[in-house]
Amino acid sequence: MKIKFEDLYKSKNRLFERQYEDKILAKKAGYDSAKNMAVYFKVRLIDDNTIELYTEINGEIVLNCDRCLDDFNYEVNTGSTQKFSVSELGPEKELDVEEELRQSLALSRPMKVLCKDSCRGLCPLCGKNLNEESCGCVKQ
Ligand SMILES: [Zn+2]
Ligand SMILES: [Zn+2]
Repeated sequence: MKIKFEDLYKSKNRLFERQYEDKILAKKAGYDSAKNMAVYFKVRLIDDNTIELYTEINGEIVLNCDRCLDDFNYEVNTGSTQKFSVSELGPEKELDVEEELRQSLALSRPMKVLCKDSCRGLCPLCGKNLNEESCGCVKQ
């Protein structure tokens, strides 16, 4: 969804907000997720030249544990505020809210992805997932 500066400028309260379930946002941000994301956003003019965008994304994405390589559900709860001046909006003078939401969700992935803090990972010798069973390998 794109918000035109002109439309926002002319609207009654110079504000536009929406809340909806997004079916494709997670996929667009590069995640495997069968679930919808709950999205809320609000754009408003804070002066004649500046748009403020507030976005909120709640839902679950599927991540792959760095340690045991299993998929698991990761809960996403983001909330962020950004400001854009009209000159940043390009010749069409419109704000691509969908793109901002996509970036925000893409960045919500943690630096270190672990299914749980106590994840025991894979045995370096036999490759068994040590969360599920222990193996008889003797570490040197
Ligand atoms: Zn793990
Ligand atoms: Zn082993």
